[in-house]
Amino acid sequence: MSDYPTRKLIIAIDGPAGAGKSTIASRLARKLGYQNLESGAMYRALALKAVENDISFDDEAALSDLAHKSRIKIEPTLGGNRVLLDGRDVTQRVRDADVSQAASRVSVHPQVREWMVARQRELGTSGGVVMEGRDIGTKVFPDAEVKVFLDADPVIREQRRIQQQVSKGASAESLAAELRERDRRDRTRANSPLAPAHDATVIDSTALTEDEVLRTVEALVEKKLQPNAPPKRNAG
Ligand code: C5P
Repeated sequence: MSDYPTRKLIIAIDGPAGAGKSTIASRLARKLGYQNLESGAMYRALALKAVENDISFDDEAALSDLAHKSRIKIEPTLGGNRVLLDGRDVTQRVRDADVSQAASRVSVHPQVREWMVARQRELGTSGGVVMEGRDIGTKVFPDAEVKVFLDADPVIREQRRIQQQVSKGASAESLAAELRERDRRDRTRANSPLAPAHDATVIDSTALTEDEVLRTVEALVEKKLQPNAPPKRNAG
């Protein structure tokens, strides 16, 4: 018996910073009536707490302890995700450049990732989510029905990030350097490095409009929602 049309998928969108994941994930989630969960915001919230508590980004044990004592919530709203750290709204603060760098440093630690992955699985396990990040298709939900790896030429990604952020007063050079450094760290870390899952659809958005990328991802989703599409995940 088919579970169409009530079937609620898990959609994983991974890729480097500036590839357009957030925009596509939030537009797709809105269209499908799904939750859009930015896993990066969780790493950012923990990183902010480490900054505020003067904890070294290299101290895995202290960071893991900090994570276990933290309440990090991602609340999808119409205007985007709201990030709550121990009940405090840190949505804006976690986007600052110092927190971006800190997030990529705290995220290299296996104990930190283990805590994050467990929380992310709790959030997404009943389906109906578009979760974006770096390791959603490889680690958090290896059985996700739709897996997309969204990439773009580094120069284009830098330009997009500069357009988004330069109004906040940061210089174009520092934004580009920050993105390159984060990219390097995310791709080269030993634990869950940024890479496409073997069964992900890789989309290079360098020469594509947002609408074109969205249509490509929607086509993948529609295929999975067909009445005869084989279920991949034990949704319970
Ligand atoms: O996606 P966003 O740029 O907000 O992520 C901030 C940082 O958090 C990334 O540079 C990466 O180091 C880390 N991250 C991760 N795994 C995820 C999501 C984010 O390691 N699933």
